[in-house]
Amino acid sequence: MATQDRLDQTSEPTSADCPFCAIVSGKGPASLVHEEEDVLAFVPLQPIYPGACIVIPKVHIDHFTDLPDALAAQVMVVAQRIGRRIMEVYKPLKVGMVVHGFGVRHAHLNLIPQHDPLDITYKHLAHIEDGQVKFSEKHLPKPSRAELDAMAATLRFS
Ligand SMILES: [Zn+2]
Repeated sequence: MATQDRLDQTSEPTSADCPFCAIVSGKGPASLVHEEEDVLAFVPLQPIYPGACIVIPKVHIDHFTDLPDALAAQVMVVAQRIGRRIMEVYKPLKVGMVVHGFGVRHAHLNLIPQHDPLDITYKHLAHIEDGQVKFSEKHLPKPSRAELDAMAATLRFS
């Protein structure tokens, strides 16, 4: 996705063309980590490190700050529990949580294993192109679905 596309926040998001809603409905493939009544967690297609995870409310709401309090709390509790698994399994220095609101216009919390204090800055997305610093996922690894499924399995909690 081009940076300009990610920054285009002018059109209203709808659940019909939302890739996260497709995952929630079972129409879109995903490597699921956790599912409960109102919250879902899965491995991103291009995790910056194994252990990276996305936690979403099932309902289609664009901006995280618009979530009802109880739902925001549920998302955070699931993120904490998966974060504990990330610490146990992948042993990063810390687990970071980022809600930047860009990309998919369905509220999502990114869990990031931090092996370096700058990992939270998405430094892995930076590259030089035409003499300028650009940011995109193009140089991140693209694990196979089987590899993503294996990562998801390591993060499940009971
Ligand atoms: Zn959605």
